[in-house]
Amino acid sequence: MAVKRAPGLPAGSPIPPPVSRRVRIEQELIEQVFLLQTLMDTIPDSIYFKDKNSRFTRVNRYTAGKFGITDPGQVQGKTDFDFFTDEHAQQAFRDEQEILRTGQPLVAVEEKETLPGGGVKWVSTTKMPLRDSEGRIVGTFGISRDITERKAIEARLEQQALYDSLTQLPNRALFMNRVEHLLQAAKRRPMATTLFAIIYLDLDRFKGVNDSLGHQEGDELLVQLARRLETCVRPTDTLARIGGDEFSILLDDIKSEADATRVAARIQQELTAPFTVNGTEIFSSMSLGIALSSSGYDRPEDMVRDADIAMYRAKANGRSRYEIFDSEMHKRAASQLALETDLRRALDRKEHLLHYQPIVDLETRRVEGFEALVRWKHPRRGMVGPDVFIPIAEETGLICPLGLWVLEEACRQVHVWQARFPDLAPLTMSVNLSTRQLSQPDFVDQVQRVLAETQVDPSTLSLEITESALMQNVKVGTEAIQRLRELSIRLHLDDFGTGYSSLSYLHAFPVDTLKIDRSFVDRMKLGAGQIEIVRAIIALAQNLGMGVTAEGVETVEQVALLRTLNCKKAQGYFFSRPLPADEAEKLLINGLRAF
Ligand code: C2E
Ligand code: MG
Ligand code: MG
Repeated sequence: MAVKRAPGLPAGSPIPPPVSRRVRIEQELIEQVFLLQTLMDTIPDSIYFKDKNSRFTRVNRYTAGKFGITDPGQVQGKTDFDFFTDEHAQQAFRDEQEILRTGQPLVAVEEKETLPGGGVKWVSTTKMPLRDSEGRIVGTFGISRDITERKAIEARLEQQALYDSLTQLPNRALFMNRVEHLLQAAKRRPMATTLFAIIYLDLDRFKGVNDSLGHQEGDELLVQLARRLETCVRPTDTLARIGGDEFSILLDDIKSEADATRVAARIQQELTAPFTVNGTEIFSSMSLGIALSSSGYDRPEDMVRDADIAMYRAKANGRSRYEIFDSEMHKRAASQLALETDLRRALDRKEHLLHYQPIVDLETRRVEGFEALVRWKHPRRGMVGPDVFIPIAEETGLICPLGLWVLEEACRQVHVWQARFPDLAPLTMSVNLSTRQLSQPDFVDQVQRVLAETQVDPSTLSLEITESALMQNVKVGTEAIQRLRELSIRLHLDDFGTGYSSLSYLHAFPVDTLKIDRSFVDRMKLGAGQIEIVRAIIALAQNLGMGVTAEGVETVEQVALLRTLNCKKAQGYFFSRPLPADEAEKLLINGLRAF
């Protein structure tokens, strides 16, 4: 006999026999329950019905599967305590009792579930009262949707939005947010004496590390630095990476300014030990700026800005130190910032010019050559000296295009003079360099190109680099310097005696000439001891086969003394101030004053 099955009934289901009306109603009921179960089982969410005691009366296949059970029927009569942690089950029980009592549903509550196997899932749960046909509450039913993946994505997005991907520290946005919270809390309780501080930190000479060791090593240094800084703060403080090599610390709830300076001092202490990156030991230091909430800030940006200004002051005062913000700094910083903006434009607008100061041969008493000294004719401020704008140019990187322009202009000029005064021994030109220029990978190529274009004999060009700049950057510096020497370009060690190096270091510098800093020349008037120092420097340099130029010679007495000390060359106001090109040319025509 062919068996006819009711639609939707699985194979093997009994075929309803023709029966009385009551039986038919029963049959329909069974089918409806069956349809309900089929429907529930196809839905990939957890669906469950519970009685008033929070016992499962019916669950779908998905729910059973989650509990590690194949047959949904076997879940009947069990409770959450059989499947979840006690804590989770208790919470669910309380929620359901509340629904039973009030008839109010719980809608889309996001909760964490710890499952029997130990797995953790996030679900969004909606629970409703279950009513009979008379409207009496007889239990609850609920739907829980797995949102684990969405939660993971949300967490990742939050991590990306609020944390720095390199160091995993809070980023600028999160930092500002926390400062904002503290400022608001302080405003709500104006009488309270809570104090907090921001320390703004910047790695000194990080650019040099990046340029000499590579970016990957630079990154590695930042990560190690972040870990070390973490050890200097309390868990309640916020250490953030603000960007590049800049970090910031929010010190919450401190007693006094001294608490902030103590942290700053500890950080500097921590940095005295070197970092090891890729086998290379790196000594680094940081400049720190501190702003205190007692200055009464409204906006987090303002407080961070002031800490930043104080940090810049620390850098300007010689790096590797901290400064506390005061309002005087603000005024200075504003004018510095304006200057920085103007300096960017000045290059395009050709507002720079060169002055030339003669370098005098003390034996022949003639001009041997010139040092090119850059000037800036500012449209409003008038003539601005290099001591003011060179540090800004170095900080901003503008020194590279500016330095290249100086080199081109000086070479062009010396070529003109060499051609115009063929009777003089070929005039030399000295050009000052910053380390930042030296660490450009193509620096030597740039110099070569300029020499070729201006047709200047390389042996008439001298490049001056200060002793401290060279010491900061020994590795990069010496490589480039070696190549420059191979081109027969001369190298002068500028401001000698003011840097870190001692006389015993001198042999390590592959330089042709030492320029004795003018402070030594000036101090010779103080007596024999000071004169002996100058004599020793000159003797040592000559033993090493180096020439010596005395800087800042202002009096005839100094000239005479230097001659007796066997100093061969000199430069200073006594002979001439730095002059514009046309006046320097007159000096070549008319000769020096007698000495
Ligand atoms: P520096 O290379 O040591 O240049 C000598 C400085 O001493 C010049 O100051 C010069 O005007 C000054 N000077 C010369 N003779 C005397 C004197 O008898 N008495 C006194 N008191 N001072 C004298 P200037 O032109 O203000 O330059 C200052 C510094 O700026 C330079 O020191 C140099 O380090 C830097 N600089 C100048 N031009 C450039 C440039 O084109 N590139 C770079 N990177 N630095 C530059
Ligand atoms: Mg110089
Ligand atoms: Mg000098």
